[in-house]
Amino acid sequence: VTAPLRIGLVGVGKIARDQHLPAIAGTAGVELAAAASRHAKLPEVANYPDLAAMLAGEPGLDAVALCQPPRFRYEAAKAALTAGKHVFLEKPPGVTVSEVEALADLAKDCGVTLFASWHSRYAAAVAQARDWVEANNLGRISIQWKEDVRHWHPGQSWIWEAGGFGVFDPGINALSILTEIVQEPIRVIEARLEVPSNRAAPIAAALRLETIGGAPIEVAFDWRQTGPQSWDIAVEAQPGRMLLSNGGNAITIDGQPQPVGKEDEYPAMYRRFLELIRSGQSDVDCRPLRLVADAFLCGRQIPTSPFED
Ligand code: NAP
Repeated sequence: VTAPLRIGLVGVGKIARDQHLPAIAGTAGVELAAAASRHAKLPEVANYPDLAAMLAGEPGLDAVALCQPPRFRYEAAKAALTAGKHVFLEKPPGVTVSEVEALADLAKDCGVTLFASWHSRYAAAVAQARDWVEANNLGRISIQWKEDVRHWHPGQSWIWEAGGFGVFDPGINALSILTEIVQEPIRVIEARLEVPSNRAAPIAAALRLETIGGAPIEVAFDWRQTGPQSWDIAVEAQPGRMLLSNGGNAITIDGQPQPVGKEDEYPAMYRRFLELIRSGQSDVDCRPLRLVADAFLCGRQIPTSPFED
């Protein structure tokens, strides 16, 4: 019997509480040993104000899960990898492609695992969608990722700062599914980014992408949709059509809803993290982040109405 992986959680906020804590508690082979957060404290584990204190106080820690906003992940990941800890990165894995690639190299040099997680890839219907795309001749794809920012990100000021991603924070989930179900290279042709005049990050974006095989991909991200969200990817192929909806958790093929398993994204990611560690590998796929970076590179910024929370 191998001892459970002792994990330290960094940045105890919304996603740490909603997903990481229950997933760690429910996964065999991992246990929560400590938390590092400036404001929050967790019961029954050692609590530290920051990662440096946690690394100093917990020499027996095997791994850390970094759940703070993306702008603070690089320094934390660098410190943890250098200290010989395996690292689980929340999405997006960083603010720039160059910093994530640097971390991947560092993990290799340090002989530890780096897992750049993309939770939406573990949604219940994504594997089925990937198999369907593989088996059919890709025609065109339309992505609608629209939600109410006030409902999903209340009071999160970091998300509106430079490096906070704005509407690309949820949008990158769609791009992580896209790059999972479509294996051929995808390029960004054009992007239109609507940025509130009092903020540094977009509230909406329209992108035109294309696969190397020439299949067009239209993308609409919008944070101004009230009521139910739309997290949909529609694929037309020769023959047939597929709709992946509910963030990858529901699928219809040619109009027929298909059976899917239960939603299990975060437990599945912790099992994946364990597998990677046991086999001495890392998993760092920058494709979703690169599409976002390219949209910012070639995109036209359009000022729009100020946004107040
Ligand atoms: P959050 O609750 O606003 O922030 C998480 C925690 O990070 C905070 O509670 C805070 O803890 C710490 N933090 C905030 N600012 C910091 C700073 N300047 N320096 C160091 N630590 C700081 O955010 P979240 O919604 O959990 O999102 C965190 C990450 O998870 C994001 O990358 C997001 O994309 C991803 N994610 C979020 C969701 C979701 O539904 N919210 C879903 C999937 C993935 P302390 O103040 O106690 O240090």
